[in-house]
Amino acid sequence: MIYLDANATTPVDPLVIDAMLPFLCEHYANPSASHAAGRVARRATDHARGELAALLHAEPEEIIFTSGGTESINAVHASVRSLWPKKPDLIITGTEHPAVLESAARWRKCGGKVVHAPVHADGRVDLDALRAAVKSGGTALVSIMWANNETGVIAPMHEIAAIAHAAGALVHTDAVQAAGKFPLDVKTAPVDFLSLSGHKMHAPKGVGALYVSRRVRFEPLLIGGGQENGRRSGTENVPGIVALGKAAELARRHFDDGTKARIHAMRDRFEHLVHAALPDMRIHGCPTHRLHNTSLLCLPEIDAAGMLILLDQQGICVSAGSACHTGTLHSSHTLEAMGVSARDAACTLRFSFHRFNTKAEAETAAHAVIAAAHKLHAEKGDDSVVITI
Ligand code: PLP
Repeated sequence: MIYLDANATTPVDPLVIDAMLPFLCEHYANPSASHAAGRVARRATDHARGELAALLHAEPEEIIFTSGGTESINAVHASVRSLWPKKPDLIITGTEHPAVLESAARWRKCGGKVVHAPVHADGRVDLDALRAAVKSGGTALVSIMWANNETGVIAPMHEIAAIAHAAGALVHTDAVQAAGKFPLDVKTAPVDFLSLSGHKMHAPKGVGALYVSRRVRFEPLLIGGGQENGRRSGTENVPGIVALGKAAELARRHFDDGTKARIHAMRDRFEHLVHAALPDMRIHGCPTHRLHNTSLLCLPEIDAAGMLILLDQQGICVSAGSACHTGTLHSSHTLEAMGVSARDAACTLRFSFHRFNTKAEAETAAHAVIAAAHKLHAEKGDDSVVITI
C-alpha cells in the first residue's frame, strides 16, 4: 500500500506507540487518584502538557486536552457565544472545515450573525475584505483555519490576529492541519484560541488539544468532575495524551532535521512527473503559501472518481475533495469558495504525503496517475486531453 492521504489521518509513529503502551498496560491508574499509581499518570499528563506548550510557544496552563479537533473547535465557539454579552457576529471563511461551518450554523441559530470573509482564487483570505468585515464591538470571534485540509493553503495568522484584535474581536484558528507540519508560535501570531488534533500529527485518533490564551475567559463545553483545571471534565485519556505529547516532541525534533525538506522534495517530484506527462494539470492553492505535503491536483476532463478507483486498485490511497469526514464523494465547498467550477472540482484529487513516505512511493504514485489518466482518456475516447508520453 502507498498511503498518500495524510491530511485525512496519519500513521501513528512507532515511537508514539512505544510511549503510550505502558499507559494502557501498566500505568492505567486514574490521574486524579491520590495513590502512587495515580501520580505516575498525573506526571505523564503534565509532561505531555509541557510538550504541547513547547510546540505552540504557549504556557502549560494554556493547554486543555480534548478528544480531538472537532471538540476543541466546538468548545471555542460555544464558549465565545455564551460569554459575549449581546448577539455578536462571527467571521469565518467559506473554506473552513465542517466543524467550524456547523458551529457557525449553530451560531446563526442562536441569533448571531455569521459573516463569510471571501477568499481569493488561490485560497488565501482577502485581508482587505476581512478588515472591512470586522466591526468594533460587534464582532466577537474571527475563526480562520491556519492551513487548509484540501488545498494546504496557509493563512497569514499574525495579520489575521492583528486585524481582529484591532477591532476588539477574539481569534480562533483551526490549526489541525498546521500543527506538527511547521512551527507555530502563539506569541508571534497571537491568537486567543487554537485547536489541534492528534491523528493529523502521527498520534492516534480521539485525542486533541485546545490552546486558550491566559488573556481570555473560557466557559467549558464539558462539565462534570472538573478535570483539566475545570475546563474540560471527563477522566483524561492518559494513553492518548501521552501519545500526543510524544507526537509534539517528535514534530519539534523533525522541524530541524531535514524531514520537511524531504517531504517537500517528494511532493514536488510527484507534481513534476505528473505535469511532465499531463501538461494540462493544474494545482489548486497559493503556490507560495502551501503546505509542503499537500498536492491538490486538477486533471481537466479526467474524472476524479474513476481515477480514485484505479489508484485504489493499485493500492494507492488518496482522496477526492474533502473526504476526511465522510466516505462519499461530494463537491468541495473549499473549491467552490475559491471560484473553481464544478466541472474542475470533479476532476480534482488530493495527494497528501507524510514523513514515512519515500521518494520511490511518490514516483510510483505519479506513474500510476499517468497510467490511470491514459486509461480513463482511452475509455472516454476523448481527444481533448493532452497527454505527453
Ligand atoms: N479541522 C480540520 C482542518 C481537519 O482537517 C479536521 C479533520 O478532519 C478537523 C478539523 C477535525 O479534527 P478531528 O478529526 O480530530 O475531530
